[in-house]
Amino acid sequence: MNRSQLLYAGKAKSVYRSEVPEELIVSFRDDITAFDGGKKDIIVGKGAFNARISAFFFSYLEEHGIPTHFIRMTDERTMVVRELTMIPLEVIVRNRAAGSIVRRYPFQEGQVFSPPVIVMDYKDDTRHDPMINEDLICALGLLTREEIQTIRKLALTINRHLTDLFSNKGLDLIDFKIEFGRSGDKILLADEISMDSMRLWDRETGASLDKDVYRFDKGDVLSAYAQVVKMMVPEGYGV
Ligand code: 5GP
Repeated sequence: MNRSQLLYAGKAKSVYRSEVPEELIVSFRDDITAFDGGKKDIIVGKGAFNARISAFFFSYLEEHGIPTHFIRMTDERTMVVRELTMIPLEVIVRNRAAGSIVRRYPFQEGQVFSPPVIVMDYKDDTRHDPMINEDLICALGLLTREEIQTIRKLALTINRHLTDLFSNKGLDLIDFKIEFGRSGDKILLADEISMDSMRLWDRETGASLDKDVYRFDKGDVLSAYAQVVKMMVPEGYGV
């Protein structure tokens, strides 16, 4: 597949126009960043692990009725996706308290949220992705109230599917971040679902198997990502 024009280079992925109208090419790079870009490295092989698990989750969710942007993989780090108008929100589902929610509010690390808590951040690096609420989302013209409800429902359904998949393998999904885009009046799941954008704890040992390994120098991040892919993605899946 020929890549043409680079449309966008994020912190860990690059997006290219493809030869096919309304399809884009997403390349998962080996760059890893944390703390608003304050910590940066290249972990060779990371991009392929994140691409593989994202593709697997997108396909799984699509089979279970969640519309996604995913079309197919073309190589181990590259996927073809539907072109969407991205909604600049980070939708974070939290099953247990960890990370920024513990720093900002009086929750205990690991405290269970039942029902899960959904937090939305406004995606804007220059403003450090501030937390946003329903009134602000509507005032900014990002979504209607009905669309916010649609996204909340999708996020909770995605959480149920992912939580079950991980739980069957002895992993606890603590939280994750997803993003959505529009195609006409449809809202689709987009971006990625990977170890870069979730917290996963081994139920037995409590060990992190996600980007916290990198953020807090907890060990070998590539081995952690490899372990999750090996546990979650069936042999022979993908390219
Ligand atoms: P926190 O708000 O605790 O920093 O993050 C909550 C969850 O969302 C974590 O799993 C974290 O990895 C994910 N997350 C939050 N912001 C971002 C972001 O800008 N990029 C990515 N990839 N994940 C994020």
